[in-house]
Amino acid sequence: MARYAMVTDLRKCVACQACTVACSAEWAVPAGHARTHVRTTPLAGSFPNLTSSPVVGQCNQCDHPPCVEPCPSGATYQDAGGIVRVDTDVCIGCGFCVDACPYEARFINPRTKKVDKCDFCRPRIERGEVPACVATCTAHAKYFGDLEDRNSEVSRLVFRDGARRMETRTVAVGPNVFYLGRPEHLDLVLSSYPPRPPRLLTAGAAWTRLLKPLVLAMVGMTFAGQAVAFFTQLHKGEGDFEE
Ligand code: SF4
Ligand code: SF4
Repeated sequence: MARYAMVTDLRKCVACQACTVACSAEWAVPAGHARTHVRTTPLAGSFPNLTSSPVVGQCNQCDHPPCVEPCPSGATYQDAGGIVRVDTDVCIGCGFCVDACPYEARFINPRTKKVDKCDFCRPRIERGEVPACVATCTAHAKYFGDLEDRNSEVSRLVFRDGARRMETRTVAVGPNVFYLGRPEHLDLVLSSYPPRPPRLLTAGAAWTRLLKPLVLAMVGMTFAGQAVAFFTQLHKGEGDFEE
């Protein structure tokens, strides 16, 4: 069984944003949102020995994805290749998974009102292609493949060259996006953008996002039903009176 993974070599990345543009075009991502992003860490060190690093981020297709369990509709799931996917027909746009993701990799798409995120370009993989960001990377800094295939490039980069996961002792969910880079740069990336502990759902949030709309819809339907019954009865009464 394939286990898909991505490796980004931060030593090669030139922060040109070609990957984010390709991703947005591939998925028609609305302006102001992104499935993949490129940032630059704040400067570290002291003058004249200052340093910084590009950071290329997206959904990590985690081995133990904290975004799956809180999904009340079952729309978020992990497929056989380890890719965490969203069934948009089932998603209700409640955003619980957005809160649960330690990497801030999800957003509510304002056009569809459903959750959106990277899925390693699943349709492209099924056509035998690599994800759009990998195909477009101007610096050839991104690699994609099957971690279970010991002859794949990603396997070599992870198991031989020590490509690293961006996780901490407190947030270790098995991300399948790995990074190569100078150790001080990888440390700087992790300290600048550490994964945050998944936010737990509070009773207030559950009421506001899930139960309240449901209760209001039920109340609305009850009123509508009573109104229909009232006018039906009224109409029937008028008929009886005419007779
Ligand atoms: S990065 Fe976030 S959205 Fe992606 S699988 Fe992990 S927890 Fe889920
Ligand atoms: S396309 Fe490649 S080089 Fe450009 S920002 Fe993305 S990862 Fe970096």
